[in-house]
Amino acid sequence: MSDLSQNLAKAEGYLARFARDGVLNQIGGEAVPAIDGGWFDSLSPVDLKPLARVAKGGAADIDRAAKAARAAFPKWAAMSGDSRRALLHRIADAIVRRSEEIAFVECMDTGQSLKFMAKAALRGAENFRFFADKAPEARDGQSLRVPGQVNVTTRAPIGPVGVITPWNTPFMLSTWKIAPALAAGCTLVHKPAEFSPLTARLLVEIAEEAGLPPGVWNLVNGFGEDAGKALTEHLDIKAIGFVGESRTGSMIMRQGADTLKRVHFELGGKNPVIVFADADLDRAADAAVFMIYSLNGERCTSSSRMLVETSVYDAFTAKVAEKAKRIVVGHPLDPKTVVGPLIHPVHEQKVLSYIAIGEAEGATLAAGGRKVECGGCYVQPTLFTGVTNQMRIAREEIFGPVLVAIPFADEAEALAIANDTQYGLAAYLWTSDVTRAFRFSDGLQAGMIWVNSENVRHLPAPFGGVKSSGIGRDGGSWSFDFYMETKNVAFSTAAHAIQKLGG
Ligand code: NAD
Repeated sequence: MSDLSQNLAKAEGYLARFARDGVLNQIGGEAVPAIDGGWFDSLSPVDLKPLARVAKGGAADIDRAAKAARAAFPKWAAMSGDSRRALLHRIADAIVRRSEEIAFVECMDTGQSLKFMAKAALRGAENFRFFADKAPEARDGQSLRVPGQVNVTTRAPIGPVGVITPWNTPFMLSTWKIAPALAAGCTLVHKPAEFSPLTARLLVEIAEEAGLPPGVWNLVNGFGEDAGKALTEHLDIKAIGFVGESRTGSMIMRQGADTLKRVHFELGGKNPVIVFADADLDRAADAAVFMIYSLNGERCTSSSRMLVETSVYDAFTAKVAEKAKRIVVGHPLDPKTVVGPLIHPVHEQKVLSYIAIGEAEGATLAAGGRKVECGGCYVQPTLFTGVTNQMRIAREEIFGPVLVAIPFADEAEALAIANDTQYGLAAYLWTSDVTRAFRFSDGLQAGMIWVNSENVRHLPAPFGGVKSSGIGRDGGSWSFDFYMETKNVAFSTAAHAIQKLGG
């Protein structure tokens, strides 16, 4: 049996329960269908066949889940940091034990290749471990002393929160948002994306099997415009941690206005990779290829705009085109596959329409550009050269394996092009001139910049974007700033004269 046939047989085993029972919501510790009995299908992008029917929650389900989260909050918030730490580590252990199942289900539900999903499942466990270890210090405050007064700050969990996640790498992203909420002492309602809901179900089951009390973590599946909207409008939900498109972020801000929702947004990007002629061009080419074509290009931090100094533009783009053409496109469970099918026919259509727009705008297809005809949503790794930053393919987030290459003459022009975008999530800079690296990164409008590297995450470092790419930062204690309220108590240290009003 080939590796692919073996993996397919395993996947069938892992998916059988979903095909049989569907994907239920989890509210107050119970697996439940939607209150109105509604369902929707989750399709596999591999062959467009339904993997499972999924409970289609709406406002009534969200209300039940929010009440369960509110009821569970006082006890969970009162649990000691050490106990929370131990429990979150048990969840991480269970993720590791079931990492193969998680990876296989994720591959079939999202189309992401096993090569990357095997690591993403383990990264999910690392996220839990990282925030587990921070749980004991979550409430730590500061003492701020001035003559006559000692100020003491404390932090307390804000209350039940909502977490809304997108369809790309949903397992890893959910752990990144949920682990700090739990470590802070918040209870939560999670609304995963409708295109890839399967591993969110595995995750909440794992957490409860590891001992998480019922109602601390509730799961409601459904569409953004009903379940998602209801979550952002619910009075018992104090904050919304959201990862998704920039325009959805705007909607959520409007929807949450009446209840004065605190929001944390991780949104879209059109991230530049800037390559100067003095860079190590071989490493830069590998990194540029990795950052646009890994995870099918469905990655918020993908380097989708490649800015290359004119003197090396032709040679560098030719090198990237050759690498793009050699990338293996195929079934996500084939260990050789790098690029799998895109998430859904609707998204595939969007990506293909941008390729048509690029050709109509006069850009040159240097690699790929076509659908791969094998039944699912497969699109070739694509490179456009001869692109200007005014073209739509350079301005709008395509969120697929499509890279656009723009030439620049000098540092000033490179910076102007890099910043001429509504987005500001990440940027990648390649140069061997350290002075320029400092100067240039000072000028770049982006929340995260990697110099001479692809995206390598250090969990304690802040993660997030500027401009239309986000509000707030995750990671380290930045996550706690969002999920917690800070209180200040001022103690007088002197019997000072109190101002008397009215005699
Ligand atoms: P999306 O905004 O369409 O959906 C994200 C989630 O929001 C889904 O669960 C959806 O059901 C829900 N939703 C939609 N409308 C809603 C509404 N009115 N109220 C409440 N919830 C609503 O995004 P997507 O297409 O699933 O994901 C791709 C996008 O996510 C890309 O723009 C990508 O850049 C972004 N993303 C950003 C990061 C980051 O860290 N910055 C990470 C991953 C993905």
